[in-house]
Amino acid sequence: MIIIMSREASAEQVTRVQQQLRASGLGVHLSQGVERTIIGAIGDRSPELMPMVAALAGVERVIPILKPFKLASRDFQPESTLVQVGAAVFGGEETVVIAGPCAIEDEEQLLSTAQHIKAAGARLLRGGAFKPRTSPYSFQGLKSEGLKLIQEVAKETGLAVVTEVVSPHEVELVARYAQMLQIGARNMQNYALLQEVGRAKLPVLLKRGMAATIEEWLMAAEYIMKEGNYQVVLCERGIRTFETATRNTLDVSAIALAKEWSHLPVIADPSHASGRRNLVLPLARAALAAGADGLMVEVHPHPETALSDGAQSLDFAQFDAVIKGLTPLLTALGRRL
Ligand code: PEP
Ligand code: MN
Repeated sequence: MIIIMSREASAEQVTRVQQQLRASGLGVHLSQGVERTIIGAIGDRSPELMPMVAALAGVERVIPILKPFKLASRDFQPESTLVQVGAAVFGGEETVVIAGPCAIEDEEQLLSTAQHIKAAGARLLRGGAFKPRTSPYSFQGLKSEGLKLIQEVAKETGLAVVTEVVSPHEVELVARYAQMLQIGARNMQNYALLQEVGRAKLPVLLKRGMAATIEEWLMAAEYIMKEGNYQVVLCERGIRTFETATRNTLDVSAIALAKEWSHLPVIADPSHASGRRNLVLPLARAALAAGADGLMVEVHPHPETALSDGAQSLDFAQFDAVIKGLTPLLTALGRRL
């Protein structure tokens, strides 16, 4: 539940409410606005608690949050969260484009891609140094060597970096090289990892698990936020359905619903959602029309020789065509790159 204190509530009254909540076994999240203080009570509450808290001095209103996710819920925070990474801001007027290869392969591949996507309007460079692959025999990434490469390339081009972290023990390492930590679809419910990125000071890009409901996805965000890190961006990357013509199925309704249920920014990844480069533009358009705050797209200088996800990767000219193809829609939506 959320406790809205009256404008005139004193600091002592706020403290008294917090004490009462803690004594009832609940966690407390304090949000001190310019006008008034809002207290979030986290945890399972007994039915008697709500009227009891409502009767305390200084309390204006108590609102039950019925959704199991609290910190991530729009009931808790009606205004949209803005997440800044480098010079880009997710969740505002800007449509943030993240682009880059699936995996970091070598300097030439990464630098040429970074230079190209930057010139075309992308704000963040992506590239996996740790790759969780469906087959354990597939290329697993360059690991720390890849992190060093992407950091150098980011410095040279002025782009911010988002890269995946797959293990709680590696969060600190990856955080030294990136400006945003990616949690991949396969790790969306890796709770030890969620908690560790929740303790990190960097924004987190949380991909939806391929079989996760929207509620489970938002609960995963809640795990991160509960540790004190509210800088979470959600990424819809397609879910498993009976369809085999595409790698996954982009869940457009999840984008709209996540925006409605949560104040967190939501972006879409049309590359993993489709597995096909010719579907990237139409799916990107659908995602933006549904309210996405940005896109993540795989780009490779030579997709035919890419070590992973070549079939869904765009070459430079194709990436330019996607950006150009989004422009009329962005104008219609009143948004900008
Ligand atoms: C990726 O972004 O390269 C990736 C592995 O994505 P996902 O976790 O969505 O499969
Ligand atoms: Mn990939």
